[in-house]
Amino acid sequence: TIDNVLDLEKLAVLGHGHGATVYKVRHKNSANIYALKVLRFDEDVMKIQQQAAVREAEILKRLDSDLIVKCYGGVFDNQFLDTDNGGDLCFVMEYMESGSLLDVLSICHTLPEKVISVVARRVLEGLQYLHGMQIVHRDIKPSNLLINSKGELKIADFGVSRVVATTNEEREWCVGTCAYMSPERFDSERWNGGDCDGFAGDVWSLGVVVLECFVGRYPLIVPGQKLDWATLMCAISFGEKMVLPDKASPEFRTFVWRCLEKDWRVRGTVEELLDHPFVTTCCSGPVEGLLGNASEPSFGLKVASQF
Ligand code: ADP
Ligand code: MG
Repeated sequence: TIDNVLDLEKLAVLGHGHGATVYKVRHKNSANIYALKVLRFDEDVMKIQQQAAVREAEILKRLDSDLIVKCYGGVFDNQFLDTDNGGDLCFVMEYMESGSLLDVLSICHTLPEKVISVVARRVLEGLQYLHGMQIVHRDIKPSNLLINSKGELKIADFGVSRVVATTNEEREWCVGTCAYMSPERFDSERWNGGDCDGFAGDVWSLGVVVLECFVGRYPLIVPGQKLDWATLMCAISFGEKMVLPDKASPEFRTFVWRCLEKDWRVRGTVEELLDHPFVTTCCSGPVEGLLGNASEPSFGLKVASQF
């Protein structure tokens, strides 16, 4: 583990997100490259943010899987940033050279089913691992799915994840974008009532991601529609199934609609979907699938690593 941020040299900014900046850094002694996520705390919501950060650190420490972006250490430190507000939390993470699925989509716009099936399989395997550890991710979306130089996709960003059955106050503190949130999470009574454990919400989010990869845009609202909370909530909770282009295979269609079943009780489970023909027959294996065949013009993920 790396426990002193002063051993790290800042090289570039990799991304910004919800209250965090991620840097590409070099470990001075070993010359190894890592990603460093620095969480900033605003004074007025400091306590709640720190609780979330500590939870993120605790979740990350428990995880050890090739399906999840690795964390090599977390430290509270105010010396890395040029600020003096104190109490920033840093995580040293595995560096994912090819960026996020969002980066890939901004270059390729759409992905072929073959590549989408590999993405879906990887995310499902990651969710199987997480759910087995009693962790709900709660923020599965393209910017939180990262890809390394080998074309392997991994789940990242546990900023709003939680170990199930925490307190109601915590449940109410709901952050992140709502765009990938499931209908049941908008239904706060049911959510707070605790009859839904939230695992199904991760499957819903995967469905949105998979559909977005296929159609090349956020799929639950029509283009040009205002992206505010109320519009999203209506679209997610009551919106009709979109008509998929004819080229969509029957396997893709049934997979997507099993994920996007509005009632979480009848939605496909991770186990069921891991057995679905879309992910069992459409791809040969995670790594080969993601590396793909460079001669294929539509090939997505490998292309992105060249940018
Ligand atoms: P937030 O909680 O603020 O959303 P994330 O952990 O999702 O923070 O990181 C924000 C962005 O930074 C990601 O979408 C990605 O583009 C980039 N990033 C994060 N972690 C890494 C990493 N380990 N390697 C490469 N890029 C990363
Ligand atoms: Mg994120």
